[in-house]
Formats: sequence, structure tokens, C-alpha cells
Amino acid sequence: MNIHEFQAKQLFAQFGVPVPKGKEIKSARAAEKWAAALDTPVYVVKAQIHAGGRGKAGGVKITKNRDEVPGLAQELMGKTLVTHQTGPKGRKVRRLLIEEGAGIDKELYLSLLVDRDTGRPVFIASTEGGMEIEEVAEKTPEKVIRETIDPAVGFQAYNGRNLAFALGLPAIEKAVVNPFIQMLGNLYRLFMEKNASMVEINPLVITTEKTLIALDGKVSFDDCALFKHTDIQALRDLHEEEPMEIEAGKHNLNYVKLDGDIGCMVNGAGLAMATMDVIKLAGAEPANFLDVGGGATKETVAAGFRILLKDKKVKGIFINIFGGIVRCERIANGVIEASKEVGIKLPVVVRLQGTNAEEGRKLLLESGLKVDVATDLWEAAQKIVAMKGKKKKG
Ligand code: ADP
Ligand code: MG
Repeated sequence: MNIHEFQAKQLFAQFGVPVPKGKEIKSARAAEKWAAALDTPVYVVKAQIHAGGRGKAGGVKITKNRDEVPGLAQELMGKTLVTHQTGPKGRKVRRLLIEEGAGIDKELYLSLLVDRDTGRPVFIASTEGGMEIEEVAEKTPEKVIRETIDPAVGFQAYNGRNLAFALGLPAIEKAVVNPFIQMLGNLYRLFMEKNASMVEINPLVITTEKTLIALDGKVSFDDCALFKHTDIQALRDLHEEEPMEIEAGKHNLNYVKLDGDIGCMVNGAGLAMATMDVIKLAGAEPANFLDVGGGATKETVAAGFRILLKDKKVKGIFINIFGGIVRCERIANGVIEASKEVGIKLPVVVRLQGTNAEEGRKLLLESGLKVDVATDLWEAAQKIVAMKGKKKKG
């Protein structure tokens, strides 16, 4: 789960990470009041959406004139902001953050995430703040500094010194070295206590007053640990999530929307990945990842169907089930019932293997539905790719 910048900053403040004073507003009318309450030499009005790149897209407005704040808020509120992270559709701005402006001397990059290679948390830092870290990693990889933390002992001051020195921080601004090390410790605490999967501050700023402050904040949480954190759950903003993914979550389905046109319904994450690969290999693109789970039932299959069909891009459906825990004839019944219920007009290919596969295939063939049945994965993938977009006969 992701949260907004203003929420990340509230969390930072709770863990002793310095942030600018600010306030979230949901209506432009509140801007005047909050600007007056802030009373600072520089005001910053920032669009709150779950995507970066707002600065370049005009989603961050800076002014020294307090009277201009309501107008800037008016301009941003309700606007659809298109950044390189939102995709061409963009995202509608429903919330703003009004905060004090910092005098920037130097922008740094700092993040903390789980390194899949070592299975440990790793800090990533760079002197190239404000830029996309992916771009820095590509063009000047030597400027990306990493410090892996041993979770058995946790963050140690020497980890902080390693990072500070590798960044050349003592030469850039000696006064911020100790606050920097302290900040790393605080971020590590936040990361572990709240089961975050990523914390990113870009830019982390050295101000003209030689202090350190987080001017942006992004935090992602491990969904599997959310049940432990009701305070974090409360930060969820459904406007920022894919409606079909929300719907899938209600049925305990693992659904991720993608850009292709072959809808797939598979049981088991590994098989779902393999299915997407084989669709690509057959020359098409998957419209989604959908894992209906090892114990899929008639009901989950029906819910899966409804979700797939809501995606107007889908031109063909590929159902790939391996009957291990689940029995294929149950899935077949689920497909038959769901097809009748939702009235599927798209080509469907069902590949069944495993427990009672024979029985399942028979049910499908005798159902009167225009469903193609296959036993072999490669054959099934080629079939659905060839059929996609074609209207069903009869
Ligand atoms: P995004 O990453 O979505 O573009 P940021 O929060 O990083 O949004 O803001 C973009 C840029 O705007 C920052 O790199 C910084 O230069 C400037 N900025 C943002 N917040 C402030 C602030 N409170 N004071 C001064 N400058 C700011
Ligand atoms: Mg940023």
C-alpha cells in the first residue's frame, strides 16, 4: 500500500525525521486560512497524488506572496496531473499540501528498501537529489551509494558513518553529518516498526541554514503486514488505487492490471507468471495477472470473470488451472455458471490439468458454451492469441 506525501511527512515527524511545517487541505477554500496559520516567508502548494514527477508537471507551486496561495490552490485542486509516473491518463488532484518553503543549498537522495539479493534492508543514497534515482543509476552508477543493514543487529552508527563518508557529506556540509546519521536511525526504526517495504526522500535537503530536512516523502507498506497496523490502514486512499484491484481484494483474489488484451485467470502465482510468459511468447500481451488461489472455488472463479470482463481492453480470456488442491470439475462448473451469469461474448480458452481434469473438460464441452478446451499450455496460449478479438460464432 502507498500513502500520500503529507501522510509520509506526518509519519516522519512521528519518528523524529525533520519535515517542513505544513497542512493538508481537501478544498481550495481552506488555503487562505492555512497560509495565514503558517505565516512563513515562502509558501509551497503541492498536489497530493500517489505519483512522483509532480514538480516537472506543474504540481508544485512556490510563492513568497501569501495572497497568491488561495489562487494557486484553486489552480491545482481538481486538476488532472499527468506526470511520467501517472501514465497518459493522469491523476485527479483531490488533496493539497500547503507547507513552508525551505531555502535549498543542496538536494540529496535517500531511500531504504528491501534488497532482494541479500534479503536485507539497504539504504540507497546519492548526492544527485531531485533527480530520478533510476536515471542516476543508469548514467552515473558510481554516484549511487548503498549500505546494507544486518537486520539481526539493526542499524548501527557505523552504517551511518559509512554512508555519510561515501556521500562526501563532511566536505559538503560538516554540520549535517550527525543529524544525517541520526535521521538514518530514525528512518530504519520507522521502516521496521511499520513494516514498510520502501521509504524514499527525494529530495533530502541541506538548507541554507545548514539543517537537514525531508522536502518530499514516499512510503510503501507490505500489504501482508497491514493487519498489524490500524493506523497505517487508516491512511489508505482508494481514489489512488485501481478500482478492479480493490474489487479483487474483496474476494481475496490477487489481481494486477496490465496493459495487454488477453485476460488471464490462473490458480497459483507461479503458474500465473508462467501463463503471462507464454502469452507473450505466443505474440500477445496479458491484460492482467490474476491468481485465484490454490483453493479456488466456483465463487472465486465467478468473481474473477466479472473482474476480467470489466476491463474493456480484454479481447480474449485464457483460463489456466492446475488441479492440485482444487478439483478441475469444480472450476469447470464455476466457468459454466459464471459464463451464463455474466454473458461472455469474448473467446475463452480453458486449459485444465490435474485432479479430475478429464471430468472438467467433459463438463465444459457438454455445456453448450462456446468455450475452447485444451490440455497443453502452449497449445492453449496459441489458441487464445489466434482467437482474440474474433466474435464467437453462434
Ligand atoms: P516530485 O518528486 O513529485 O516532483 P517534490 O516534493 O520532490 O515532488 O518537489 C519537487 C521539487 O520542488 C523539489 O525537488 C524541490 O526542489 C521543490 N520543493 C518541494 N517542496 C519544497 C519546499 N517545501 N520548499 C522548497 N522547495 C520545495
Ligand atoms: Mg520528489
